Amino acid sequence: MTLTAHIKARIAAQGPMRIDEYMTTCLLHPTMGYYTTRDPFGAAGDFITAPEISQMFGEVLGLCIAQTWLDQGAPTPFTLAELGPGRGTLMADALRACRNVPGFIEAAEITLVEASPTLRAIQTETLAGHRVTFADDLEALPEQPLFLIANEFFDALPIRQFLRDGSGWRERQVGLHDGSLTFGLAPAQAQPALTARLDTTQDGDLIESCAAIAPVMDTIAARIAAHGGVALIVDYGGWQHTGDTLQALRDHQKVPPLGTPGDADLTAHVDFAALAQAGASCAHSALTPQGVFLERLGITQRAQNLATKLTGAALETHIAAHHRLTHPEEMGNLFKVMALYPQGSAPPPGVDP
Ligand code: SAH
Repeated sequence: MTLTAHIKARIAAQGPMRIDEYMTTCLLHPTMGYYTTRDPFGAAGDFITAPEISQMFGEVLGLCIAQTWLDQGAPTPFTLAELGPGRGTLMADALRACRNVPGFIEAAEITLVEASPTLRAIQTETLAGHRVTFADDLEALPEQPLFLIANEFFDALPIRQFLRDGSGWRERQVGLHDGSLTFGLAPAQAQPALTARLDTTQDGDLIESCAAIAPVMDTIAARIAAHGGVALIVDYGGWQHTGDTLQALRDHQKVPPLGTPGDADLTAHVDFAALAQAGASCAHSALTPQGVFLERLGITQRAQNLATKLTGAALETHIAAHHRLTHPEEMGNLFKVMALYPQGSAPPPGVDP
């Protein structure tokens, strides 16, 4: 059975499917899900992420973490965690960049939160030589300082969409029409969890909400508030957006989100306001554009340094990678960095307070 047939049968039997269920099924179905069955990254895959563009991304993020660790008195041991590590490239680059920071690698207990068995296998290979623990979620994290990175993790978490109708909300769902998957709207209902959004929206506005954020951010913030540490969250999105941002990418092209379930990546813009609110036991930085963040932390010096060893096509690729990560018209502005850190302590280097 294909994933499309599976989803259609589920809708035929039980009625329209919420978008969060659709996303989870498409991305993480145990045998037919997008992430569970493949390595989607890079030129041969469907999309490319910052750590796959250049080693400099992971190096700079790693050094930001290590500097914050030093600024907080080099607590030992500590958890070095990454959410949704993809191929493990970012963590490998970060660890290599930090190997000369005295005591850092020895004190780090590396934990990777990854849902896909296929990607866990690749991460194990990429990080050979390091002791790595896998976790399904953050609940099991030890009570100790937490230094955490999440790049393009939150955009993969399942969202629900609601259209404002008076003081109620009509949920957008996936149904069947003439045998094809199609979007529809459920009847209007009160949604107590969305009461605060009644002040910031008008009739006809569409909003997105992600229930998975709260438990994740609450746990991260609790560890950092109690024991110290920092969370560096990098993603595309903004501060409480309105409108439909569900998108599917296949072979580096946008495709209709209902067109090829399980064969395209599905993401939505991240609402950083929801992240900050769920992590309110910590202070948070302002949203800082990725390009500004990387420049402040010295990516250009690093790029120049690496360039001295390169010629020809390799040099051109390297220069293009630097441009792609930092330029405002490429990833520099679209992607934002937000840090979570203990109340009363200084934010990590690179972010706007
Ligand atoms: N950070 C990586 C990969 C981003 S893609 C990079 O920048 O290259 C999203 C990652 O999150 C993948 O590794 C995917 O398998 C993982 N993921 C998606 N949903 C998840 C969930 N609910 N729990 C844990 N990992 C998840």
